[in-house]
Amino acid sequence: MKAETVDLRSDTVTRPTEGMRAAMASAEVGDDLFGEDPTVRALEERLAGMFGFSGALFVPSGVMANQIGLRLLAGPGEEVVCDAEAHILAHEEASPARYGGIQTRTVSAGRGLVTAEALAEVVRPGNAYTVGTRAVEVEQTHTRAGGTVHSLETLRAVRKLTADAGVAVHMDGARIWNAQAATGTPSAQYGAPVADSLSVCLSKGLGAPVGSVLLLSAECLACARKLRHGLGGGMRQAGILAAAGLYALDHHRERITEDHSNAALLAAGLRDAGYSVREPETNIVLVETPGAEDVVARAARKGVLVSAPGPSVVRLVTHLDVGRNACQRAVEVLVAAMSEAGPGMQHRVCTGHMEKAEESEEAA
Ligand SMILES: *Cc1c(COP(=O)(O)O)cnc(C)c1O
Repeated sequence: MKAETVDLRSDTVTRPTEGMRAAMASAEVGDDLFGEDPTVRALEERLAGMFGFSGALFVPSGVMANQIGLRLLAGPGEEVVCDAEAHILAHEEASPARYGGIQTRTVSAGRGLVTAEALAEVVRPGNAYTVGTRAVEVEQTHTRAGGTVHSLETLRAVRKLTADAGVAVHMDGARIWNAQAATGTPSAQYGAPVADSLSVCLSKGLGAPVGSVLLLSAECLACARKLRHGLGGGMRQAGILAAAGLYALDHHRERITEDHSNAALLAAGLRDAGYSVREPETNIVLVETPGAEDVVARAARKGVLVSAPGPSVVRLVTHLDVGRNACQRAVEVLVAAMSEAGPGMQHRVCTGHMEKAEESEEAA
């Protein structure tokens, strides 16, 4: 019997469970563009309350949530500062520049983190001949650095610095659920006290099929709805999708810690086999190995799907559709694939972080 495929390419590959499908099928709906979908409203209200915001907007994707969030904070010809490996730069089709006319400027504090120390060197007031910083963007957790977590302390320091400088903060919290599971930080503290807007994703760790929610202040909501409409993100009976999100909040949040132990298991297994692995902080494991594309192809032939965010980095992401046994099998297959793919090459010990993963084909 052929073993089942183990799909570790991304936590976006999960399929809705029976319970989730049932919740979707029975959702009460209305026309959300008219503001009449009770299930969408329930989801928006629940998330706004959870993270301490007065407004929320359900959108089809994390990319759209980020684009609306950034455009509310910075206009054409204005500047947003973010990490050099930010998702908004690498995986969003240059949308801040393309649709928002926003200039981005980067910091590289390490591990994908945006810190007050790094910002102090870069954030600047504008004047007659200098572009001033309007907003700062932080990514929680940071995808390309391997699911790294901004601690509450780091975020508070960023908030203090930006508040003093009159600069806004947008948080791309696509994987904020993982940051919470890793640190135990309550939602209320990770939200409004440290950011002006926060986008949270329902279709990654939570396992819903579609959707993100942009959290913001109620005063900005009308403007955010206009931007969403203009981007083609206005939806009608979207309650069937929002119902999946509500179900996920009830049933899939607590279990995210399992994804983290599975990531730790993968990391330990690969490290024991002599490979250099960044200790995962959450559900993303980065392994340094030569010939990453070749490793990906070899492992796929054995039913283990992973990705190569760089020429010598293989990425594994755990989620609710992969259990412990599947991860154990993935370790065996990957160890074999890596030893075949890079014969004669030394395993280098990885001291820094793997942020130079430029050749990425993998979004998310
Ligand atoms: C996945 C992801 C997004 C985009 O989400 P989509 O729903 O795929 O558009 C944004 N930011 C980060 C950090 C992500 O990991």
